[in-house]
Amino acid sequence: MMAFAETLLRLRSAFVSGKTRTLEFRTGQLDALINLLEQNEEKLLRVLYKDLRKCKFEAVIAEIRFARNEVIYALNNIASWVEPELVERNFVTMMDQCFIRSEPFGVVLIIGTWSYPIQLLLTPLVGAISAGNCVVLKPSEVSTNTSELLATLIPKYLDKDYVAVFSGGPVETMNLLVYKFDNIFYTGSSTIGKTVMKAAAEHLTPVTLELGGKNPCYVDLSFNLESTAHRLAWGRFFNAGQTCVAPDYVLCTPEVQRLLVPAIEQAVHTFYGKDPKDSPDFGRIINDQHFQRLQQLLKSGRVAVGGQSEEQDRYIAPTVLVEVTESDAVMQEEVFGPILPVLNVGSLEEAIEFINRRRKPLALYVYSTNNQVVKEMLENTSSGGFCSNDNVVQMALNTLPFGGVGFSGLGIYRGKFSFDTFSQKRACMLKSAGMEIMNSARYPPYNDQKLNILIWATDIKKRGCVCRVL
Ligand code: NAD
Repeated sequence: MMAFAETLLRLRSAFVSGKTRTLEFRTGQLDALINLLEQNEEKLLRVLYKDLRKCKFEAVIAEIRFARNEVIYALNNIASWVEPELVERNFVTMMDQCFIRSEPFGVVLIIGTWSYPIQLLLTPLVGAISAGNCVVLKPSEVSTNTSELLATLIPKYLDKDYVAVFSGGPVETMNLLVYKFDNIFYTGSSTIGKTVMKAAAEHLTPVTLELGGKNPCYVDLSFNLESTAHRLAWGRFFNAGQTCVAPDYVLCTPEVQRLLVPAIEQAVHTFYGKDPKDSPDFGRIINDQHFQRLQQLLKSGRVAVGGQSEEQDRYIAPTVLVEVTESDAVMQEEVFGPILPVLNVGSLEEAIEFINRRRKPLALYVYSTNNQVVKEMLENTSSGGFCSNDNVVQMALNTLPFGGVGFSGLGIYRGKFSFDTFSQKRACMLKSAGMEIMNSARYPPYNDQKLNILIWATDIKKRGCVCRVL
């Protein structure tokens, strides 16, 4: 850990030098990140294929271009983000300059995960750099090939005094967490999220936790058969189901299930051909441990679609399970694989009740052509994100915040939200030393006249609330 202690010292003194506070430095690093992504696309595609058998289409859309777009969005907007934000003043502060200044925290730690090893490491990095921080990156050891390549490329493109990469698994991560960081951004499971938060608490370091969970998907009687089946199958089987915002399970009536399950089967055939194992577009499970875990989940309920697997290739077919109950293994943990359990409920109310008695999910989906159903689901539940008549795509729009609630996470990022997450919002009031007469009402000896003056000058007047029906 000597090496790490030295690196941390180097980053700290680089931060103190003030260089990261300049817009030129930040935009220079962001430009370098674009170069990294553009000049190494082929290499990045190769390692993603090795780790997850990720196809070019999914790698470009959900990793390389995804990260690149985030950088470009930051470059296009950073000049306005760094501007002090003027705030409303009252009578007492009329003559003062009152504003919020976004300042970097210092040295921040970003811990990534394996399912989207480029996106989930570099997207938060964009926010951290934009906000003017020095950064320690800890890629996931599970996506070995991609993490190794990133650990090689990042020091070649970004300034080593300001951004450092540390590789390693749980032990190395815990060793890093002993040190004091000024902010920690973690993506991964809720279980490890707690460990990270406990370690951060030792230094009272603020954390952002991007976690997982089980994302419910309610399919109403009024659903559109073709689009629902296509969108659900795409969202669940993209990256072989290893997507944190994928629909984790379907809730519907037996009547909907009778129509939906064959339509999903048809969508699977259309997408991946007769045998998805031979499709170049269908990924593989990241490692043996996850493969074995998913094998156990396949035992829940009854296989209605797919169900085949091949250990050597870590292949699990796009699968739909029916006759699943709440107590089955597949409902006890996040699936995080190409398996979609379907559970029966009698009504929308029952679906809402089912969702509300479980942990708050990262995303919640409803498929219905009836706006009232969508509205009821939205108004009566809580989740990090929400999307009707589709899934996953809500997180592609970086003008929406991304993050969980409760067990699915703490804090948000993407676009401007990333900049804010990695900035300390410093409350600033610049006053002149004169105009002392303005202050006489606040000084003792107090009396009712002074009190009334202060009340008049500082009271917030009630304006009433205009409610808008959504
Ligand atoms: P993982 O094994 O890659 O772990 C994540 C990070 O934590 C890695 O960098 C790893 O080195 C570190 N780590 C692992 N064990 C540790 C320990 N005991 N102590 C300290 N650090 C440790 O990934 P995972 O946990 O398998 O990730 C899968 C989970 O991540 C799923 O629940 C998924 O939903 C969630 N996820 C969330 C998002 C999101 O943006 N919200 C994105 C992708 C995945």
